[in-house]
Order: sequence, then C-alpha cells, then structure tokens
Amino acid sequence: MQIALIGAGPRNLAILDRLIQKNPANHALTINIFDPYPIGGRVWNPYFKNNQTYLMNTYANQVTLFNDIDDAYDNSETAHLTSTLLSWAQTSALGFLNDHPEFPVAYREEIIALISMETYSSRGLMGVYAAWFFETISAATPSNISIRFRQTAVDDLIVANPGFNLITNDGEKFFADEVVYSPGHLDAVLSPAKKDLANFAADQGLHYYPASHPAENDFTALNENDTVLVQGLGLSFFDDLLSLTAAKGGVFLTKDDGSLQYQPSGHEPHLVIGSGSGLPPRSHGFNQKGPSQLYEPRFFTLKHLEKIANENKGHVPYQTFRRILDQELTYKYLINQIRLLADIDDQTREEILDFVKEPTNWPLVNTQYKLSLNTNISWENEANPTRDLTTISAYRTFFVKHLEEDIASAELGNNFSPLSGAYDILRDMRGTVRYLYNHRLFDEDDYQTLLTEFKYFDTQLSVGPPLIRTQQLLALIEAGQITIAGPNFSVSHDTTNFVATDRFGQKYLGSAFIEARLGRINFQSANSPLIKSLRQQGLITGDNRITNTDGTSLLSNTIKVDSVTNTVIDHNDNYVTGFFIAGIPLEGQQWFTTVIPRPHVKTIIFAESAKIVDAILYK
Ligand SMILES: Cc1cc2nc3c(=O)[nH]c(=O)nc-3n(C[C@H](O)[C@H](O)[C@H](O)COP(=O)(O)OP(=O)(O)OC[C@H]3O[C@@H](n4cnc5c(N)ncnc54)[C@H](O)[C@@H]3O)c2cc1C
Repeated sequence: MQIALIGAGPRNLAILDRLIQKNPANHALTINIFDPYPIGGRVWNPYFKNNQTYLMNTYANQVTLFNDIDDAYDNSETAHLTSTLLSWAQTSALGFLNDHPEFPVAYREEIIALISMETYSSRGLMGVYAAWFFETISAATPSNISIRFRQTAVDDLIVANPGFNLITNDGEKFFADEVVYSPGHLDAVLSPAKKDLANFAADQGLHYYPASHPAENDFTALNENDTVLVQGLGLSFFDDLLSLTAAKGGVFLTKDDGSLQYQPSGHEPHLVIGSGSGLPPRSHGFNQKGPSQLYEPRFFTLKHLEKIANENKGHVPYQTFRRILDQELTYKYLINQIRLLADIDDQTREEILDFVKEPTNWPLVNTQYKLSLNTNISWENEANPTRDLTTISAYRTFFVKHLEEDIASAELGNNFSPLSGAYDILRDMRGTVRYLYNHRLFDEDDYQTLLTEFKYFDTQLSVGPPLIRTQQLLALIEAGQITIAGPNFSVSHDTTNFVATDRFGQKYLGSAFIEARLGRINFQSANSPLIKSLRQQGLITGDNRITNTDGTSLLSNTIKVDSVTNTVIDHNDNYVTGFFIAGIPLEGQQWFTTVIPRPHVKTIIFAESAKIVDAILYK
C-alpha cells in the first residue's frame, strides 16, 4: 500500500507514528511525506532565525510527539514519561545536536537553559525535537514499511480510481492509494482592500505586513524614523513585539523586584498598538502542572452535561453550558483563595474547603467563617472588562493596571493562583467542550454563539502568551516605546500615511502597518495551489451541515469531511474514499484544532490519528 502524507506538521507525524504502530507485520507499506518546510513543518521551522527566540505558548513538559493514544490515562503529576519536549531536552538533545551540526548553535545554548517545568521552548527547538522524533521512529521502523520525506509542496491531486496521482511543486508525480492532507494554517489571497493597502505602501515607499506566520516577517526595513501601526494584540503581536524592540538592539533588564526594565537602543520604531477588543489575552500562569495533570471538575463533568442533554432532546442549551462552566471557574477561584488564606489552621481550611463544595453555601461562607473572599465574580467581565471606559486617558491607565494585575496573578501560578488558576482550567476542560461540540450536543442556533462569543471568551482567558511576554510589554510601555490605542482599532490610509482610528475617536498616523495575526481560517480564500485545484475539481466543498437562522451555512469556510473518519466529502456529497483531511481547515466543524499533542491525556491529534489510521488500514 502506498500512502501520501501531505504536510509534515505534528498532525501527520502523529498519523505516521500510528501507521507504524498499527500496520500488520505482513503488510508492505510505502509512506511518502511531503512538506516544503523541514520535518515538523512551517510553524516549528528551526531554520527561521525568529524561531530561535519566539516561544511556544505551551510549557515544554506538556508537549509530546509520541503517539500515546493506546496508553492508560494518568492524571498524576508524576506520570512516567520519557518523551516530552522537556525530557528530551534534558537527555538526548545534546547528543542529537552533536550528530546534526546543520542545526543553528543557538539550540545547544537553549537546551542548557531548558531545565524545568516552568520553561517554554523556542519554536525552533520544537522543530529540532520533531527532527529527532522522526529519526527515532524511522530507525525503529520494521522492514515492511518504507518512509521517505520529500521537502516539496504537493500542488495537485487527481483521483485515479483506484488511488490518487499527486504532482509536486518540483514537477514529480507520485501515486498513492491513500492520502492524508493536514496543511495547518494557510495564507490567504489578499482581498481587494488588502491589495489596496499593499499598492499604497509600494507607491509611497511605506511598509505593509499583511496577516501571515509571524516568524516569516522581515522588519529590517523599519527603524527609529518609523511609526508602526500594529493591529492585533494576540499571540502574533507578542512575536512581532520582540522583533521590533529586542531585535533592534534593545535590552530587557531585570529589576530588584523581578519586574523588567527596557533599555532602548535608539533604533526601535515607535509602536501604536490596538485591536478590536483593545486588550491582550491573559498570560499563562507560571507552570505548576505536570505533563498530564488536568483539573478534575466538580460541576462541569461530561456525565452532568450529558444528563442535561438527555433531558433536553439531546441538547445542552448554551446558557446552561455557560452557567455550569462559570460555576466551575468560580469554584476553582474560591478554593484557590481559601488555599492562600494566611492565619488559619489546616483543620479550619479543610472545613471551609468542604463548605464551598456546595454552591448554595458560597454567599454564606464569609459570614460563617469571618472571611472576605470574593464569592461573586463575573467571568464575562474578566474576558471583556473595558466596556465602561469612555476616554482614552482612562483607557490607558486601565490598560497598564490590567497588565500589572495580570502579571501579579500569573506569578502565583497556573494551579494555585485564584484567577490564573481558574483561567487555566479552561485548557484542562477543553476536551469536554470539544466532545459536546463535535458530537453536536448543542442546538444549531448555539453553534454561532460558540464560534463567536465563546471562542472570544476562551481565547482571552486561556490562550494567552507566556508571562515573560506580558512583562516585556509592560516594560516597553513604561519605556515610552508604545502608544496604546483604544478598542475598535481600524487602519486605512490617506494620501500619504497609514491612518488608524479607535473607539475614542483618536487618530494615529503611521509609516508602517502590521496586521499582527495569522490569516483567517477559510479554505475558500487560501493561497494554495492544491486547495485551489481541489476546489475547482469539486473534490472539496464547504460544510453545509449547520445553518444560521437566516438559512445560510455557518461553516461554509470549513472543508466538509466525515466526522468520524475525516474522509473528504465532495461537492456532490459523495465520499472521496481514501482521501482524508485533518486539522486546521476543519476548524468550526471541530472545536479548537490549533493544538499540539499533550502526553497521556487522549489529546485530540492522537485520538483523530487513531480513527484515520483505522480507516486506512482496516476498511
Ligand atoms: C505561529 C504559530 C504558533 C503556534 N504556537 C502554538 C503553541 O505554542 N502551542 C500549541 O499548542 N499550538 C500552537 N500553534 C497551533 C499549531 O497549529 C499546532 O500546534 C500544530 O502545529 C498543528 O499541527 P498541524 O500538523 O495540523 O499543522 P502545522 O503544524 O501547521 O503543519 C502543517 C504543514 O503542512 C504543510 N503543507 C501545507 N500545504 C502543503 C502542501 N500543499 N504540500 C505539502 N505540505 C503542505 C505546511 O507547510 C505545514 O508545515 C501555533 C500555530 C502558529 C501558526
């Protein structure tokens, strides 16, 4: 059997590992893996200079590539693990780098510093780990399986009945009986409005950086004479921030109290920063969790939610879902406040912890135990706290205070901090949300709310940057490198400058404009020859299985596949047997596809790989 894996990112590496694990001993298998970037893929490319300093936003002890879907789930902090990114860095990494001098020397220095569960790996080191993983599993592969990595893009796929013919970017042809295509985030074709911005920049000698993978931006043309309008305050923003400051020669110094001070080089451009919501997401708390350690919910359990669905014609109403989720967050917030109480003995603490197990006791706990716990928190307000601010000066004061409070909270840790510990359980409980979402346990009308309101809520609270990045942002603001703009930040141009405006009616002129975000996930506008050809052939089509109240399709930007096996469904609603698509182009049909595997928690990428490999090998 000939198998083609298009894309060499974590998803197809999980499929590869699973194929090796599951292929019968008497079955000959040839696997060709294609990607224009090295093994590990574009996000983790160790040869992009920026990836030597850009950080992952997942702790190194919580990342693995070894497909452990068959292994028992272990929620203990001391789960026996030998294969995380962190454990590799502490053991085999140096030997591997010695054997592979082609990798930049920066990674040798990094692994020496990557010593504990509180550390993040650079994205590039993740790419080196992927290379080691590939070498390791390839070396252990039995002789009936042959694996070849081909560093080129697949530009076309034609159904051969049986099987498929693939054409690569360098003109080679390959046959495959089965194909798995996991392309990750794809760049978008520039819309007419973006083309106008690009043309304007070219005509005026200004600089425009449309949404793309941040590590690929080259800001060498920007200097102290530029004012840069930066739109977006999410993870890409924090990447760009580093390139526009430290990479221009500035230095972050640690002060006595542990906070940072920025010492400019004088070659940094001035930055005007803003976004729709106006605030960056919350920082990840200092790590206190083991590789597989997940919070065990008391209220937001699958059993409880399925019971509600059974009582409601198979659906969990969104409002009920949010009420229970918010209840769980408040519970975690309360128990962490109680754990931090000084001046009480252990027995009383246990008594209070027992008392708050019952939500009806929450309003009574302060009187009962003479405490001043915050028992009534609005999580909606945590995610969207700026609504009542009416002037830019009040907003800027608030922005700085918000960062200071976020840093103080994150320093208490992702398990024990009242707020950051509560935000972090959104990550731990994502599997339950995904289960409800992917098994269509919500009302059709609620899917839109989940994709907009809830996505924003989840992202603002639990998909933030490493703490150090927020500390750096604060130091840059204090050093006068940054002007904070208000929410509803939008950018256009006049005859000579880029022009940004915000909710407070402020106007900012810039000589450069950076869209600090990835291209939107939408296969219809993807700038990929393969996607364009598949669309033209009608082999891929938008998912039409959930409709909006106005009758339009909610998921028309998402590629339609079978929800169990990921087999592609074409524009005539026929199965393209043997052709599977996985991952990010399915976002919306599936919940939260943009993740890296976490060890021993039946992580989504491994669970999905098991189903696809079953469909390939045992159909
Ligand atoms: C900048 C950035 C940072 C991220 N950081 C984190 C993080 O810290 N933690 C986390 O959990 N998640 C992170 N993510 C989410 C990320 O999507 C996942 O972690 C993971 O990489 C997804 O794996 P994948 O294999 O689906 O996609 P990818 O890793 O994106 O890999 C897909 C690969 O397919 C290749 N490809 C596409 N089209 C073709 C073609 N026609 N022919 C051949 N190859 C093709 C691409 O070149 C790419 O290498 C990040 C994403 C981005 C973009």
